[in-house]
Amino acid sequence: MEDTKNIRLDVKRSKLQAIGEARCPQCREGKMFKYPFWRVDKFSEMNTHCPECGLKFEVEPGFWYGAMFVSYANTVVLLAILGVVVFYIFNDPPVMYYIVPITILSIALVPFNFRISRAVFLHLFGFVKYKPEEKNA
Ligand SMILES: [Zn+2]
Repeated sequence: MEDTKNIRLDVKRSKLQAIGEARCPQCREGKMFKYPFWRVDKFSEMNTHCPECGLKFEVEPGFWYGAMFVSYANTVVLLAILGVVVFYIFNDPPVMYYIVPITILSIALVPFNFRISRAVFLHLFGFVKYKPEEKNA
């Protein structure tokens, strides 16, 4: 009984929750970013190391360039969804009806997209193992 209880307590967040909250892939506790995403002036400022376990977030030089592909994919999905929505709502309107809302929304979502892209890329391609016990090595 005691053992199963302890194991459950160890896994505080699922991988998906950790990605959504932009937490460290190793401990799922430490925050990757210094400020919340709605601080649009500082949304991109990251902790270099995890404040909880000390993992270096940029696991190799230039690692974050890879996150641009995730960001690009997110933008393409957004563009496709918005394109379909605009097409049906305005019944195949002129091109500007597509360009204006898609541009505005893409720019408005930059802070969110930037952070989620880095979190997804680090969790999926950083090859960092989940070690809940790791504390400031
Ligand atoms: Zn950590």
